[in-house]
Amino acid sequence: MHKDTKQDMETVFLCIFCERDCVRRMEETMGLLSIVIPAYNEGNLIKKTAKVVSDIMQNNKIPYEIVFVNDGSKDSTWDEIMRAHEKNANVKGVCLSRNFGKEGALFAGLEHAKGDCVAVMDADLQHPPETLVEMYRLWEQGYEVVEGVKASRGKESILHRAFVKVFYGVMSRSTGIDMSRASDFKLLDRKAVDTLIAMPERHIFFRALSSWIGFRSASVEFDVRMREEGESKWSFSSLFKYALNNISSFSTVPMQCVMLCGVITFIFSLLFGIYSLVKYFQGNSLEGFTTVIMLLLIIGSVLMFSLGIIGYYIAKIYEEIKCRPRYIVRATTDKN
Ligand code: UDP
Ligand code: MG
Repeated sequence: MHKDTKQDMETVFLCIFCERDCVRRMEETMGLLSIVIPAYNEGNLIKKTAKVVSDIMQNNKIPYEIVFVNDGSKDSTWDEIMRAHEKNANVKGVCLSRNFGKEGALFAGLEHAKGDCVAVMDADLQHPPETLVEMYRLWEQGYEVVEGVKASRGKESILHRAFVKVFYGVMSRSTGIDMSRASDFKLLDRKAVDTLIAMPERHIFFRALSSWIGFRSASVEFDVRMREEGESKWSFSSLFKYALNNISSFSTVPMQCVMLCGVITFIFSLLFGIYSLVKYFQGNSLEGFTTVIMLLLIIGSVLMFSLGIIGYYIAKIYEEIKCRPRYIVRATTDKN
């Protein structure tokens, strides 16, 4: 008998005996929701987050797995993840070799998630886990990208708010997607996850990319809660870097600003040239030294500024063509 046919017969034979068990197991794994949670120095929160999320999933009878990604934490985060895994096999963990930043950690989670749909949320429970149920139900109705949008932004300083407004203004204009209330809290269908994973770019702005890929999408509003414990990992300077990074990886607006600057300086020099020529022919030319210094300084700084922007993009291209991995895994809970 052909080997495959023999194997098929064996499977059928087995299934006759364990029919109920097989059906139950199939139901359990159908519609599996993976919840990816990046964690950086969140040792005190892992246990609580795992419990809160697991309870909600169990109460709503949603088959789930939680994939914690330890983003090179310096505290007990990884030990806590291992402990949570020993207690509950649905909790899994990926440990990165160092801190790769939230986007790197998110992608590590996406690539290790086995679910038919994958949700992404923060470890500090600022994204209300109950909203996951609402997102999952929308996915069951056929939506492939369910975005969590912020109904309110929670507690933030005035400076932070102003900065965020400018950043999202640029991002919304360059992507054509309203990003003012966008968040990293979302649920993606397997198709959308595979599309994201297949993208070759190294610098990823997850928040924008998940909208950019299209698919059938819906949104769910949520209120950003207070952090359960600890502090935000974002200082003002890291936020500034993050903004620069994402603007340059998603948009060429700054390059167009360089062009605009060139046009404005050209118009200005044309007007000023005509003015000084007229003055010259009238016999009273402009006062020399101060004007020359002013012009040199203005043009010099415009040039340096423009070079800086262009240099930034070249650096980005350099980083992209090196094709280094987005993250490196040191261990997982499956094998250490
Ligand atoms: N995070 C991460 N790597 C980092 C910084 C943050 O994985 O380098 C995780 C962090 O553990 C949390 C989420 O990203 O689960 C959001 O971070 P945080 O709460 O500090 O940011 P905020 O809510 O203030 O924007
Ligand atoms: Mg937070």
